[in-house]
Amino acid sequence: MSEELKQLIESNGLTYHIETFGCQMNVHESEKIAGVLENLGYKPSESKAAADLLLFNTCCVREHAEARLSGHIGALKDHKADKAYGVLAVCGCMMQQKDAAHKLMRRFPFVDMVFGTNSIHKLDSLLEDVLLRGQRAYCVEEDISIVEDIPVRRDGGPCAFVNIIYGCNNFCTYCIVPYVRGRERSRRADDIIDEIKRLCDEGVSEVTLLGQNVNSYGNDLVESISFPRLLRRIDAETNIRRIRFMTSHPKDMADELIACYGDLPSLCEHIHLPVQSGSDNVLRRMNRLYTRAHYLGLIDKLRARVPDIAITTDIIVGFPGETENDFEDTLSLVSEVQFDAAFTFAYSKRKLTKAADMPDQIDKAVKSERLARLNALVAELQRRSISAYRGRDVEVLTEGISERDANMVVGRTRTAKTVHFPGDASDIGRFINVHIDEVLTHTLRGKRL
Ligand code: SF4
Repeated sequence: MSEELKQLIESNGLTYHIETFGCQMNVHESEKIAGVLENLGYKPSESKAAADLLLFNTCCVREHAEARLSGHIGALKDHKADKAYGVLAVCGCMMQQKDAAHKLMRRFPFVDMVFGTNSIHKLDSLLEDVLLRGQRAYCVEEDISIVEDIPVRRDGGPCAFVNIIYGCNNFCTYCIVPYVRGRERSRRADDIIDEIKRLCDEGVSEVTLLGQNVNSYGNDLVESISFPRLLRRIDAETNIRRIRFMTSHPKDMADELIACYGDLPSLCEHIHLPVQSGSDNVLRRMNRLYTRAHYLGLIDKLRARVPDIAITTDIIVGFPGETENDFEDTLSLVSEVQFDAAFTFAYSKRKLTKAADMPDQIDKAVKSERLARLNALVAELQRRSISAYRGRDVEVLTEGISERDANMVVGRTRTAKTVHFPGDASDIGRFINVHIDEVLTHTLRGKRL
């Protein structure tokens, strides 16, 4: 790291602000970016407007992401006007799309720095180009090696994200992720365990293991390890109290993983298992490589091990060629599984993906109507699932002060239900038993026991 750069940042008291779009993977990457910046001497800014370095961590998964980003950046043309060391930067998976970074730099000459998801560890040399040499900096790499020991700036709460595998080999026909995040690369198990031990020492009690498909963990490693074996090692070798993970692909979910539930004390009784559709025809065209029956079989096995397990999912409606019958298959699957919650989306095209060129694209009005019907069913199931908690005693890991009431704290059960109860900042990070006496639309309220 350049001392000259560090000195310039520290002596001018430079600040940063990161705007993060997209999934947990991006949230965690922003934590790493913040870690690198703070190592260089940057301090968090009190506001976006005041930040010397303003950075957009982009996502290309959502609809119209590019247009929205352009709107945000266009509005910041004068952001640097009153800042001697102002820097505008854009990073994240949208920048990994072919030509996207060059296009953005051409269109917005006031953007100083663009980098991709594999270049966070080069942030210091990019900043040297901008701040010391007065050049625009650009780095979007195909390099897929894993860089360990990037500093991470977490918010200090009791929950933390830990990457275990990057990239994806699956090529679901609607998804752009494999094109922008490359093929699967697993971290070494020892590195993951060391990181979790360090987090425990820092007061973290719950980790969420991250990967596009955690079930593929270890397939690319020389060491003989799988995701279930990694879970067993984390449970046995660290003091972490709670483990969650996302996301798990149903086609790769082994019985060995299901056997971890109810067996590993730290593994929370919650699984996010994206089904996407209840129709075999649609699943085939999505290239999901499992059937409705296979998915339902997994749910049966999970519930046989842990009857109260919370199950959440992702569902896309209006995929090309989806008929009314196909959609009704989705509704019937949702009713059969009785999901605790679901993230639902109307299909929208993503450049580069196979589904974007499929015939029989579904009319927008039909997609909206199906989405509304699905959402009504999901809301009903969610109400039912949360209502079952009235009168129960639950263990809550307190995560922070409630945003609605400064005299209340908020945390989650092992089944990922949000609970508010009276408390103060001294409760943050503690496990507290709570009696649930009130059920709200999406959250629970109770009294400590
Ligand atoms: S498993 Fe499918 S949906 Fe998930 S990241 Fe890979 S290609 Fe995308």
